[in-house]
Amino acid sequence: MPLFEYKCRECGKPFDELVNHADDPVSCPFCKSTNAEKQLSVFAASVGGSSSASATPCGQPSCGSGFA
Ligand SMILES: [Zn+2]
Repeated sequence: MPLFEYKCRECGKPFDELVNHADDPVSCPFCKSTNAEKQLSVFAASVGGSSSASATPCGQPSCGSGFA
């Protein structure tokens, strides 16, 4: 099952949830609200945040080989 990241609209806390389908309803583990917003990929969100010190997007010298 894929792991999705959500943010509760009621209490504002982020949480992860394993779901069978992306559109499955989830409930907040903190306040039990089902009013949660599915977040975009954490991998996409982290790109560019800490790569300023490296020439490659992933920060590894071998990153560019075979992956353009
Ligand atoms: Zn909540």
